[in-house]
Amino acid sequence: MSAQEYFDQGELVAVLTTQPLDRTLDYKAPEGGCFLGAFVEVPLGPRKVLGVVWGAGQGGFDLAKARSVIRVLEVSPMREEMRVFLGRVADYTLTPMPAMLRLATRAPGLGDPPSMRKIYRLGSGEPDRMTDARTRVLEVLRDYGGLAFTLKELAEQAGVTSSVVKGLVKQGAVREEDSPRDLPYPYLDPDLPGKKLTEDQAAAVARLQAGQRTGDYGTTLLKGVTGSGKTEVYLEAVAEALRMGRQALVLLPEIALTAEFLTRVEARFGARPAEWHSGATMTERRRVWRMVGQGDAQLVVGARSALFLPFRDLGLVVVDEEHDTSYKQEDGVHYSARDMAVLRAAICGARVILASATPSLESWANAEAGKYDRLDLTARFGAAVLPEMKPIDMRAEQMQPGTWISPSLRQAVHQRIEKDEQSLLFINRRGYAPVTLCRACGEQIACDYCDARMVEHRFLKRLMCHQCGETKPMPEACPSCKVEGKLAPVGPGIERLAEEAEATFPEAKIAMLSSDLFGSARALKAKIEEIAEGDADIVIGTQLVAKGHNFPKLTLVGVIDADLSLHGADLRAAERTFQLMRQVAGRAGRADKPGQALLQTFQPEHPVIRAILSGDEEGFWKAEAAGRQVAGVPPYGRMAGIVLSGPEVGPVFDIGNAMARNDVPLRDIGAQVFGPAPAPIARIRGRHRVRLLVKAPKGAPIQDAIARWIAPLRLKGDIRLTVDIDPQNFY
Ligand code: ADP
Ligand code: ZN
Repeated sequence: MSAQEYFDQGELVAVLTTQPLDRTLDYKAPEGGCFLGAFVEVPLGPRKVLGVVWGAGQGGFDLAKARSVIRVLEVSPMREEMRVFLGRVADYTLTPMPAMLRLATRAPGLGDPPSMRKIYRLGSGEPDRMTDARTRVLEVLRDYGGLAFTLKELAEQAGVTSSVVKGLVKQGAVREEDSPRDLPYPYLDPDLPGKKLTEDQAAAVARLQAGQRTGDYGTTLLKGVTGSGKTEVYLEAVAEALRMGRQALVLLPEIALTAEFLTRVEARFGARPAEWHSGATMTERRRVWRMVGQGDAQLVVGARSALFLPFRDLGLVVVDEEHDTSYKQEDGVHYSARDMAVLRAAICGARVILASATPSLESWANAEAGKYDRLDLTARFGAAVLPEMKPIDMRAEQMQPGTWISPSLRQAVHQRIEKDEQSLLFINRRGYAPVTLCRACGEQIACDYCDARMVEHRFLKRLMCHQCGETKPMPEACPSCKVEGKLAPVGPGIERLAEEAEATFPEAKIAMLSSDLFGSARALKAKIEEIAEGDADIVIGTQLVAKGHNFPKLTLVGVIDADLSLHGADLRAAERTFQLMRQVAGRAGRADKPGQALLQTFQPEHPVIRAILSGDEEGFWKAEAAGRQVAGVPPYGRMAGIVLSGPEVGPVFDIGNAMARNDVPLRDIGAQVFGPAPAPIARIRGRHRVRLLVKAPKGAPIQDAIARWIAPLRLKGDIRLTVDIDPQNFY
């Protein structure tokens, strides 16, 4: 490496800070000097801020005026590969470097020296009497499994005073311990015996491990139907990374899936790995960040932002359910964790496994093009077979108004109830009804701040905006014409469907699964376990159930509205419907009983519905790929979404129009601009939104062109501009 590695005291260093400045700042290296990449505290005006030594200072000013770095923090310096990674993500997503550094330092108290502190865990004693406050403390401790809290964290999480916790300590129900602030994670042993693999699984593992042993970068698409053992297979790749002394990262799309996965890791490697997600305590996050950096965490299981942890030697990244849209972050830094995982691995010579039953078209195309290796697991493990899929043609069903369960579906559910098997009714809409209509004047109740209708949530007895979260009580009278008693729900949400199911199947036990119906992750997990044990005849669920949960007694999946996401301006509508329907159907028949999936549709001959039913996945992808190739859209063309927003619509449009007129940098690379047009959701939280769409040929330097295009803009007042490269959602 040509760059200087170490700076003596007094030498000028350039420091990147987390403050919103567009450049690094020069400081004098502190007493004792500092390494390139060192985390430092520097003075900025009257404040002290966090920064990283990014290189030699630029100088060019009176050296006597240079201020000194205050101190070097006691954490491992940022490695070169991380600096390169942050820079490349910044270039790719058009994000300023300070925002990248914030993403890479999202752990509190990084600067604090290692020391002892008191921590609190679940004890074995019983309190003499239970109060509400005491119950809450114990619940929080159980919710987080074996994790420890500081006194302040525990009291805050439980919403009690610290004296409540201290009271429980006296009684032995909570244990108080002295602990170094950050402990290494327990050793994961890759050589404990794993499961005996099937021939297919073993072949996949052999190929993955051979790739790993080259020590070079490589990405594999691991495609396998739900239950085929993808997790078993990639756990063996994790084992190989650990044997090679390298670290591994497993990304999961949803916290609700971590608990089951952690149990499997523990069974395979004898201990639990580090966890990184929004549900982890601040103390735990800090520990993960530090231990990852010094190599004392072999495996991290986490959400997308775990990709920015300071791994010492990352050898493997697994992106499970790689097609999941939650891997795309859509506020702050707009990045796709799946794509950035590939970038990071390419920089540090790691392997990537993208696992899914229904891969994204992007990954499928990359495999077709030979950029990714592809491994297929075609059979379910053990006796489990894939469900039979059939349409229910809604045009031929006799439906009562205000009902959504067709006679054919009703009959199929009845058969399951008789055999003591479970049915799942799937509807991808939370709440009671998506629209509340005034039958007197035709008004549909809308959010005051967004261009969106309010959704009735009868369970909460409120109307809610799914854009901004604003809620209000259900009014008696129409807010527009003031007539009373004429407001009516239109269309079904999960709560309304549950009501219909209760009336239709009075003898059945019904369980509802929707992310908004449970107060805590623990309550949700408990419900899922109950259902898995058979404590429900009918499960009514939203998207939540499509993701990886295992219900052995479930043999029927009824999709209430298979057409719901088929239409819409989104170029991925067909792909999403295909993935979602196949994922949901995959819930049926996991154990020894064969399953069936019934799709209620008004368009059984629609090509997407036909592809879903026939199971001809390759056919579907080829057709979808051909369509996108013709249209020149991703993955066969490049796109970027620009959203301008502000309190007044006029000035926002003016800027949009000016941008559309001055599009030379874009035309230079053969790109086109569409818009400005009101964004599909034209107002969110009181801000008007105007959208421009940039379409460029594949391989065109779109970021560079956009950077040149927006550089001359001077945004006045409260107008904001965001750029989303490779947008996933068009809203
Ligand atoms: P996927 O990740 O593809 O959905 P999993 O790895 O979760 O599949 O496997 C589905 C179920 O089958 C799990 O309960 C898993 O433990 C079990 N299973 C898969 N392969 C094996 C095997 N070779 N031996 C024992 N159990 C297995
Ligand atoms: Zn709103």
